[in-house]
Amino acid sequence: MLPVVALVGRPNVGKSTLFNRLTRSRDALVADFPGLTRDRKYGQANYDGYQFIVVDTGGIHGDEEGIDEVMAKQSLQAIEEADVVLFLVDARDGVTVGDQAIAEHLRKQQQQKKVYMVCNKIDGIDSQSAMADFYSIALGSLYGIAAAHGRGVEQLLESCFKPLADDYPEVIVGQGEVSEDLAHDEIDYDALPLKLAIVGRPNVGKSTLTNRILGEERVVVYDLPGTTRDSVYIPMQRDEREYILIDTAGVRRRGRIDESIEKYSVVKTLQAIEEANVVLIIIDARETITDQDLNLIGFALNAGRSIVIAVNKWDGLSNDHKEEIKRELDRRLGFVDFARLHFISALHGTGVGHLFESVEEAYASATRRVSTAKLTQIMEMAQEEHQPPLVSGRRVKLKYAHAGGYNPPRIVIHGSQVTKLPGSYQRYLINYFRKALGVMGTPIKVEFREPT
Ligand code: GDP
Ligand code: GDP
Repeated sequence: MLPVVALVGRPNVGKSTLFNRLTRSRDALVADFPGLTRDRKYGQANYDGYQFIVVDTGGIHGDEEGIDEVMAKQSLQAIEEADVVLFLVDARDGVTVGDQAIAEHLRKQQQQKKVYMVCNKIDGIDSQSAMADFYSIALGSLYGIAAAHGRGVEQLLESCFKPLADDYPEVIVGQGEVSEDLAHDEIDYDALPLKLAIVGRPNVGKSTLTNRILGEERVVVYDLPGTTRDSVYIPMQRDEREYILIDTAGVRRRGRIDESIEKYSVVKTLQAIEEANVVLIIIDARETITDQDLNLIGFALNAGRSIVIAVNKWDGLSNDHKEEIKRELDRRLGFVDFARLHFISALHGTGVGHLFESVEEAYASATRRVSTAKLTQIMEMAQEEHQPPLVSGRRVKLKYAHAGGYNPPRIVIHGSQVTKLPGSYQRYLINYFRKALGVMGTPIKVEFREPT
């Protein structure tokens, strides 16, 4: 599991700037469900070797009456679910009433989580005297940064994550990456339970589907106590295979949580994706496909997870309507043409059994072992059919390929100048490997290495 860092502060203090710096080109997931009054962005951060989920909670003014009113419920939830809260203030503004109100609110939460006060925009000013002003409302230590230029950010992250290192060994990437590869070779994936996360926006039918799946199977349910951000883990068996359903909808806790939107948590969804082997993404046929659905798919693929897409509520639609939905899906899901698409009715159970065929297929694709000989042979065929382009007047030469890990499959290609291959040729190779290996539902990562 990755730790979660929430960025909190008034508008214009630099939250988006910091968010963008931490997530760089990675896709941000923008929550766009009803009931949300402000933009909230979720991203996978990878900065200076630190990996975590970062949440931009949107602007909180804090100068309106009652901070609880001002902070939308989802904003509060994001703070509650975070391991670390970065409270940003603007060094150039000095302490404002809004800052004070936010500080007051965060002070109450400080027992449960780490709050760091971050003084942004210290570039080009006397940072010491600018920051001195903030000690009056500081919660713990005060950090000075310039999000726009990156100054101070690394030190800030180091302070944030040091205390979390024991709880979250994954936070620092690079550590043990090699041994992980080796370990993968020894894992018998078929003997392990398949972790299947069921995710989707509020009201798409996750609970209905989970109940439907569980209703058909004999299950032992453990309801582990936890916070709102914890999913429920449900072990189950189906056709000889052991599964662990990662239930983000909180089926077993129903009744205690009344509103669908309130039980929905983006952080929980992202954590579930991180933990799963295969992610079942549910979309609502009646809403066709929303940007947030696409964001979820993008996030799962970025995280290297295998996916299966289920279009739910396929009951009671006219044929014309169905055709129209299918055309729209074709148009917008072109970028994941390797993922299986199912049309189901969780309510009536139609098509639910077949989902598992695709889940199995995706898992098998993600964990299948392929020899160096076979990978090199496929690479050579690809190279013969379509020569790599010239780079600075010299032809790129692919020499051999081997597996660099599974789940998701990673293929390492060695050769001269291969790191300079244009993106179009890299994509060609990925697609070629995908077809030749029959990999379905799972992203393939290709890495290039040159002799040093
Ligand atoms: P948000 O509303 O809190 O998300 O704030 P933004 O990230 O949109 O930033 C607000 C403004 O502050 C923008 O014009 C940024 O370019 C500027 N800004 C952000 N970080 C820095 C910084 O480190 N130094 C300076 N000088 N300006 C910054
Ligand atoms: P969740 O928020 O994703 O867990 O969604 P729920 O499972 O609570 O379902 C939201 C609403 O959609 C409920 O009223 C369900 O009865 C309805 N629903 C779920 N699946 C189906 C389906 O296959 N067909 C139809 N017509 N309605 C469904």
